[in-house]
Amino acid sequence: MRFVSRLVCIVCGKEAQPPKSAGVCPACNDPFAILDVEYDMAKVAKSISPESLSNRPLNHWRYHELLPIEPDEDAFAWPVGWTPITAAPRLAAWAGCRRLRLKDEGKNPTSSLKDRASSVGVLHAVCNGATRIACSSTGNAGSSCAGYAAMAGLAATIFVPLRAPEPKVAQLLIYGADVRRVRGTYAQAYDLCSAECARNDWYNRNCAINPYLVEGKKTCGLEIAEQTAGAEPDWVAVSVGDGCTIAGIAKGLMQMKELGLIGRLPRVLGVQAASVDPVARAFGQGGPLPPCDGSTVADGIDVAVPRNWRKAIKYVKATGGTFVSVSDEEILEAIKTTGRLAGVFAEPGAAAGVAGVKAAVAKGLIDRSADVLAVVTGNGLKDIKTAMAIAGTPSEVDPLP
Ligand SMILES: *Cc1c(COP(=O)(O)O)cnc(C)c1O
Repeated sequence: MRFVSRLVCIVCGKEAQPPKSAGVCPACNDPFAILDVEYDMAKVAKSISPESLSNRPLNHWRYHELLPIEPDEDAFAWPVGWTPITAAPRLAAWAGCRRLRLKDEGKNPTSSLKDRASSVGVLHAVCNGATRIACSSTGNAGSSCAGYAAMAGLAATIFVPLRAPEPKVAQLLIYGADVRRVRGTYAQAYDLCSAECARNDWYNRNCAINPYLVEGKKTCGLEIAEQTAGAEPDWVAVSVGDGCTIAGIAKGLMQMKELGLIGRLPRVLGVQAASVDPVARAFGQGGPLPPCDGSTVADGIDVAVPRNWRKAIKYVKATGGTFVSVSDEEILEAIKTTGRLAGVFAEPGAAAGVAGVKAAVAKGLIDRSADVLAVVTGNGLKDIKTAMAIAGTPSEVDPLP
């Protein structure tokens, strides 16, 4: 970790020793005292420039100085990142803003943004001599972890809640993971996974309390900056579950600004499902995490006890951003509209980000003249049941006689 200067606690600010995998601040008696990785940015600036970047492969390893890893030839051949950004003018008209672009994270190898974290986590696990990686997941984190574990030849155990969509479970099984369906919620799957990791000395991929994984999600922000440099959006909208993705994206944008690779820092909009929006409410109230017992059709962001809420709020604030909540009806409408008006098939947790743009414009949080980029965090094929329930039916016709 040549460019990492230290790990600090998000609560007390004290420096902490790097944990082997997951781990919170040893000084704070707080399960949410997450660690954050800090870099020697002066040293990074000497190594990353538009010129040096122009010679690098188009995947997220191009930012390896800003990841808590050692360069690794084998791992750097795993595909991940550099997903396309496309203009969606008809969707912009629907959402009510001047310009709207979509970054399609469904184009990652296992079809979600989680590949950015999993690729870093699996590499980190391999470098630490782990024999098995484990994670609890509503679906995408698990299927992605299983996919990269298969690429690396590392054993994987994935704990999924009962209501994980079947296509995601199919991915896990096809990638050869040991899949354990927990008769309970995501929060319960999470606790069981943490306990099994501690008991068996497995590598814990649980993103929220593994400070290295959030850094992987950061590459989405680094890419948005590099891909839009000179025409940076005013706002970047992203859906929020545990809070790792948005914290990572905001941090990535800020680091690119600090390196002088973009001129203007976009503001970040966090979007939660109205029935499960503890981070948005904590942001609005300025207080602790409120209790939450709702659930949403968007399994990817159905997180009642988000571990990384502090980091999410800290980084969203630092960009001058804000949060908005959208109903399940708005999410379902956004799935259909994003498909029809932009040709991008989003899963519910991803369409929430698009729905949030429309909601934020309607509320006056985003100006109608704004240039917005929405991150589509996962592919719609990952939750066919929800898609089919709203898609309508094909007409049946006879073939030619
Ligand atoms: C995981 C996920 C998110 C949110 O990421 P967090 O780090 O949990 O906030 C959003 N959309 C999809 C599709 C996801 O799988």
